[in-house]
Amino acid sequence: MQINDLIKGNKKFREARFSKYETDLKQLVKTGQKPEVLFIGCSDSRVTPDLMLDTKPGDMFILRNVGNFVPPYNPDNDYHGTSAAIEYAVNVLNVKHIIVCGHSHCGACKSLYQDLENSPELSNVKKWLELGKKAKEYTLLATPNKEDKEQLYRTTEKVSIVYQMENLLSFPYIVEKIKNSELQIHGWYYKIEDGTIDYYDGEDCTFKPLEDYKK
Ligand SMILES: [Zn+2]
Repeated sequence: MQINDLIKGNKKFREARFSKYETDLKQLVKTGQKPEVLFIGCSDSRVTPDLMLDTKPGDMFILRNVGNFVPPYNPDNDYHGTSAAIEYAVNVLNVKHIIVCGHSHCGACKSLYQDLENSPELSNVKKWLELGKKAKEYTLLATPNKEDKEQLYRTTEKVSIVYQMENLLSFPYIVEKIKNSELQIHGWYYKIEDGTIDYYDGEDCTFKPLEDYKK
């Protein structure tokens, strides 16, 4: 993929597909965006929120970072990009749903098992990956056969989603909105190899096919 391909891609988009969204977009320019969903996904290039959910401009406020992690609430004076996006989506856009969407073959989850001690060029990554530490610890405790690395990674990817959902509950305004039935939190797991999504069912703490989800 070269920049030239992207330039051609934009031309193709304007000529062939933009018209499909033009009316909606002009309306959204007038009224502003009103997405009802905050989608928290991984930056992984194989995760494609609008493609995999068949959504259109204006549907989802999308937040992507390494590992689809959610840091705990921390209202200090630092640069909290992820928390700022969450705050804006919940308190200004008043989204009704937050989806934490993990995915299979996540490099961030795999990296939890690698030693980054001697990688000064990854100092921010190393710090950020601390947000997956609990998921790794839980997975190691819960997995009898630790030799099957791929299975270990798949489990970590799913367990991490639950911990990130838990971190969302450290944000007081999120808890408040959930109490008032104004907001719901969802945990999804996207399989990049077949396009399917499983959702986390808090009732029995398992992941189930999204088609079986009942509101
Ligand atoms: Zn990932």
